[in-house]
Amino acid sequence: MLSDPVLQIRNLSVEFSARKRTIRALRNIDLDIPRGGTVGVVGESGCGKSTLILSIMRLLAPNSKIVSGDIVFEDRSLFELTEREMQSVRGNEISMIFQDPLTSLNPVISVGQQLIDVQYRDSVAKKVKQQRAIDALSQVGIPDAEARLSSFPHQFSGGMRQRIAIAMTMIEEPILLIADEPTTALDATLEVQIIRELKELQKQSRCSILFVSHHLGVVADLCDYVVVMYAGEIVEQGPVRDLFYNVRHPYAQKLLECDPARIVRSAEKKFPTIPGDLPDLGNLPGGCIFSNRCHSAFDKCETHSPRRTEVSTGHSVSCHLY
Ligand code: SF4
Repeated sequence: MLSDPVLQIRNLSVEFSARKRTIRALRNIDLDIPRGGTVGVVGESGCGKSTLILSIMRLLAPNSKIVSGDIVFEDRSLFELTEREMQSVRGNEISMIFQDPLTSLNPVISVGQQLIDVQYRDSVAKKVKQQRAIDALSQVGIPDAEARLSSFPHQFSGGMRQRIAIAMTMIEEPILLIADEPTTALDATLEVQIIRELKELQKQSRCSILFVSHHLGVVADLCDYVVVMYAGEIVEQGPVRDLFYNVRHPYAQKLLECDPARIVRSAEKKFPTIPGDLPDLGNLPGGCIFSNRCHSAFDKCETHSPRRTEVSTGHSVSCHLY
């Protein structure tokens, strides 16, 4: 576990009921986000990344159920807060950046007005809020920020819209920023720029970041700590250098092999994939959840679930090979 965490997730399990089936979306998740640190969560679609974020924000669908565990943010259990208290946490202390910036930007209100509106909790003069809006836009690299206050989201490029969305989330100086695949819809050059902005903003604000992505190269660039998820479980987690240079779990190894940045660098231009499918979360197999796709599986893997084992300081893996 990491020292001085702003957020601690302990033994979190979440289920969904759908068509008389129980989907076991998250199982026994343990995760810490250190103060001022950046934790990257990686895994294929369907691995549980979105359910994890929605659990933190307490925005899970009505057909969901927290089966076990707790999420503690700044020494308060998020599950024990009233809805009113939780609304104050969302946006004020925990902010989110989405993959599509238009999710958080209103298309019919100018960006300047939106940047002022987001400060509704602060009882300062409108002039002060406007100046903060200009500063926030300048900080994320929007040229001529004052003049662009009256522009609408559609008058900006995709990359600029994502920068504005970042400015919106950072203006209230959150303690924790959750970035949900914020660069997935952008081209490689813009992706690099946005990651640089995020790094710079974090340096200035000292907020913690939970960065969710399926792009390992980006995670390596931005994060201090990496969590690899598969089919609703954490299969490996550790400090970024340790995990990338000493990756242990067969799934995490495959995920690294499939990273687009590695493929571009290698002479082999074929796009590797991980053969097989994710297990049915409504009918989980016994034993290791990766056993049907694992090139190293042996008898025990079919019958016994692996326990988490610490392989070096802060680096743990759930696999019978260790
Ligand atoms: Fe593969 Fe067995 Fe390890 Fe699971 S426990 S990842 S099946 S070797």
